[in-house]
Amino acid sequence: MQKIIIVGGGPGGLAAAMLLSAQGYTIELYEKQPYIGGRTSSLQMGDFSFDLGPTIFCLPHILERLFQLSGRNLKDYVDLKEMDPLYTLIFDGFCFRPKRNIEELENQIERLFPGEGINCRRFFEHTRKKLEALLPILENKHDSVIDYLRCRSIRALPEIEMGKTMYEVAAKYFKDERLRQAFSFQAKYIGMSPWECPGAFSILPFIEHEYGIHHPIGGLNQLTKAMARVVKEYGGNIYTNSGVNKLIIKDKQVTGVQLDNGEIVHGDEVILNADFAYAMTTLVDDSKRRKYKNKVLEKKKYTCSTFMIYAGINYPLSLDHHTFIFSKDFKKYMQDITKCGNVPKDPSIYLQHATATDKTRSPKGKSSLYILVPVPNNFSNIDWEEEKLTFRQLIWSIIEKKTGVHNIQSHIEMEKIITPNNWEKDHFVFRGANFSFSHYFSQLMYFRPHNDFEEFQNVWLVGGGTHPGSGLPTIFESARITAKLLMESHH
Ligand SMILES: Cc1cc2nc3c(=O)[nH]c(=O)nc-3n(C[C@H](O)[C@H](O)[C@H](O)COP(=O)(O)OP(=O)(O)OC[C@H]3O[C@@H](n4cnc5c(N)ncnc54)[C@H](O)[C@@H]3O)c2cc1C
Repeated sequence: MQKIIIVGGGPGGLAAAMLLSAQGYTIELYEKQPYIGGRTSSLQMGDFSFDLGPTIFCLPHILERLFQLSGRNLKDYVDLKEMDPLYTLIFDGFCFRPKRNIEELENQIERLFPGEGINCRRFFEHTRKKLEALLPILENKHDSVIDYLRCRSIRALPEIEMGKTMYEVAAKYFKDERLRQAFSFQAKYIGMSPWECPGAFSILPFIEHEYGIHHPIGGLNQLTKAMARVVKEYGGNIYTNSGVNKLIIKDKQVTGVQLDNGEIVHGDEVILNADFAYAMTTLVDDSKRRKYKNKVLEKKKYTCSTFMIYAGINYPLSLDHHTFIFSKDFKKYMQDITKCGNVPKDPSIYLQHATATDKTRSPKGKSSLYILVPVPNNFSNIDWEEEKLTFRQLIWSIIEKKTGVHNIQSHIEMEKIITPNNWEKDHFVFRGANFSFSHYFSQLMYFRPHNDFEEFQNVWLVGGGTHPGSGLPTIFESARITAKLLMESHH
């Protein structure tokens, strides 16, 4: 059977490895880190456990489909818990916990924001149609202009509100500013501002309510661990501590890879899962690239980065599983991080207190607290070594003030900080832009690097840098689309 080399063991690489190993392909997956999962891996500090990156898992049926295609049942590998309410939103002096069920939510909104319940219903009715129009685009390849111009894409255009931003779409339906933000802040899930993110992505808040937000017991890292198990069950090889140093290219054909230890491995096909811009700039000489040269990559638009604090707290916190704290001026904050490149003075903060649902995350009577603050990527000139401690202090004081949990800081037993510099240097993310290229139409579908990579023969892409885009469900779809194309190319 054909031998497939996979560069990177993040969710994209592992999903592709799982699908192809199940079809009998010989899988050789090389991961640079000592662990698998990439940004969807776990972080252990003493007896406190954290997810390194993703904490919000939507559309589990997409991953279930991948497991089915691989002859497996996701439920045999992970135990999913659903969140209801979905999360807690903290605005200035006001707290909103949206229920998952759309009818219940409508009543809840009507109680809290009189007259807006009906607006919520309208928003969901319209967004349901938008999702129906978008699904064929997301589920299929976009490797040629013909794919892009296909009827299904054209027909979807009026529905997906190309000319509007996510905030403008929310503002069409809701009068209250807090509701507008509650139905557009999800742009942050893909590293963008609601004031810039295309209106098509208003499917994100709809998806949360329609399909729920899920938490695998043990964290989202369990998803990547589960896929790695399946790969091994099918006889695939996963090598950790085994970075790829360069692609071996003859004319435009890639015949294998050279590892960091100098070893050369030949294969029939190579699947790249490493962050796309990072992979191009480190694994392939600029002179060998025609379309994605360094200067082209520098000019692309990238998503924001994240400043992270992982803290082990020595008593049980009374916080919900997911909490979003909004800045007083949310628009200004988003501008600071996406346009101005400033260290925000009043940041929005996301907290995950997994211990609330999942007792495996911390020792008994204690809490694991994951804190994520969207910040500018490394195209800004911020010196994070200089700023880190002051910014950390600001974050803790906002949390204490806005959640009402006083004096947390004196209960920190363990703490780790990850800055945008660390994402770039230690996790191999180009410019620390954690969600890859921004999701503007000019960088989506045909205009994103293709699953069947256009630059070289025998090279395929999976992960946030290719079609359909960043975020776990789309990354899983990228693996399904790529694996399908690769298999078709052999028939
Ligand atoms: C803080 C944070 C929070 C996020 N939250 C969410 C969320 O809640 N929900 C959601 O759906 N998505 C979220 N995401 C986005 C996205 O789902 C994850 O980042 C996801 O892990 C990206 O998957 P990937 O396969 O594209 O890349 P990665 O996970 O980065 O995997 C790429 C792998 O390639 C490896 N690699 C790189 N270079 C080499 C090399 N030369 N040789 C061998 N291996 C190499 C890397 O070490 C890594 O393991 C979040 C991301 C971050 C960073």
